Amino acid sequence: MSLSIAFDNSYAQELSGLYTPWQGQDWPDPQLVVLNSALATALGLDASGLESPEGVGLLAGHALPDGARPLAQAYAGHQFGGFSPQLGDGRALLVGEVIDPQGARWDIHLKGSGRTPFARGGDGRAVLGPVLREYLVSEAMAALGVPTTRALAACTTGDRVLRQFGPEPGAVLARIGASHLRVGTFQFFAARGERDKLRLLLDYAIARHDPDLTGADHAAALFLERVGQRQARLVAQWMGLGFVHGVMNTDNTTISGETIDYGPCAFMEAYDPATVFSSIDRMGRYAYGNQPAIVFWNLARLAEALLPLIDPLEDRAIARASEVIDRVQTTYRAEWAAVFARKLGLDAPDPALIADMHQLWDGQRVDFTSFFQALPAAVLGDSTALLAMFDTPEAVAPWLERYRAAIADPQAAIAQMRAVNPLYIPRNHLVEEALQAARFQGDMGPFHALLARVQAPFDPVAGMERYASPAPADAPAIVTYCGT
Ligand code: AMP
Ligand code: MG
Repeated sequence: MSLSIAFDNSYAQELSGLYTPWQGQDWPDPQLVVLNSALATALGLDASGLESPEGVGLLAGHALPDGARPLAQAYAGHQFGGFSPQLGDGRALLVGEVIDPQGARWDIHLKGSGRTPFARGGDGRAVLGPVLREYLVSEAMAALGVPTTRALAACTTGDRVLRQFGPEPGAVLARIGASHLRVGTFQFFAARGERDKLRLLLDYAIARHDPDLTGADHAAALFLERVGQRQARLVAQWMGLGFVHGVMNTDNTTISGETIDYGPCAFMEAYDPATVFSSIDRMGRYAYGNQPAIVFWNLARLAEALLPLIDPLEDRAIARASEVIDRVQTTYRAEWAAVFARKLGLDAPDPALIADMHQLWDGQRVDFTSFFQALPAAVLGDSTALLAMFDTPEAVAPWLERYRAAIADPQAAIAQMRAVNPLYIPRNHLVEEALQAARFQGDMGPFHALLARVQAPFDPVAGMERYASPAPADAPAIVTYCGT
């Protein structure tokens, strides 16, 4: 069977200077480990063709089909606050773009496809654990309605790759995204003072993500605002799910508003704004509660990069950009309140009730996801399960009374809550269990069992209670690693 894919490579055609044409590494024994057939079909790709040796050649990157124009993208970025003028795809390739049956354009992107000229000291590799982790968590986010890149497939390479705790199976993740343009892509040309290239990039990004702004007056400022609104909405959704991205560098902040780069990310269990999982985030820069401030900081870096295109007079450009960032902050606050209003089944945000709920959680180590699962019974008058989550349940009663009073129609409120409050999230101990089985026993059973739950996060399944439960008290604390 021959694999035929109609690639349409706009990035390669339009953005010279922003990439290096490159090839994937040749692998000793490439094998498909998991294929997202439903996603492949939705993209208009032939799922059974992707399972063939030719398909695996594409998904593992060692033998790309005709029409692909593989390349490593250049970008810059602030990592933990420090600027690197040249980062780029050190171990990744943009294979090409495809247009789905609805006319939407998607990047097909490989992570772990071998060293590129941007690899610096890195080995260009990825290993099975983190690849499957990104697969699970990004699919969970998609099912939760959060904009995200998505996993198309995971392959092993047949190589062993040395990592912190010894040799691991080498792997490649194939993912799709609305694009891989980042704040750092703009910073790359801005830092070099290449204004013409920056303008070209802006035009490209507008055509791809905000085509209605094409030719508009003040297009750069309007574009900044659009990116800001998408990111504000995104982070508000993260906050509503207890999601901690873990490495919100400007090169991991997309123009599309999709979540990208599931390295050290994890879901918070016990509520604590200081929650951090990443081994290298010692200052808590990317802690749960800091994510909104960080996204504004990253947007300010995008604003800086765009300044010469916003207005030739720097003072005017700065004033205009500041107004945009102020409006984005207002958008964020409204989105955050709306997210929590929906989680509570309220018709309209009640800022005091929502703020006081966060206050209630303070120091109580309440499981964030389970709290919302216990609310429907409490609305109907049985607050036993809810109160049992608190060390000092008596403090909860007055809030609960106000909450019940705010709900006009309990059945409608509960229906709304059940549509947004997940039962199944990729809890850290379950993810670890799935990855351990895959890495050390070659057993994909636990991975598929967890994937099935998180792909239908709102639908209770009898007998699957452990997937909805917090980690046992004696479970080790989870530490996550970057660049794995
Ligand atoms: P990340 O923290 O995964 O977003 O990656 C930050 C930068 O490091 C990007 O430029 C990556 O391409 C690069 N990088 C991460 N891991 C590796 C690796 N194993 N080999 C080469 N480059 C890497
Ligand atoms: Mg990255």
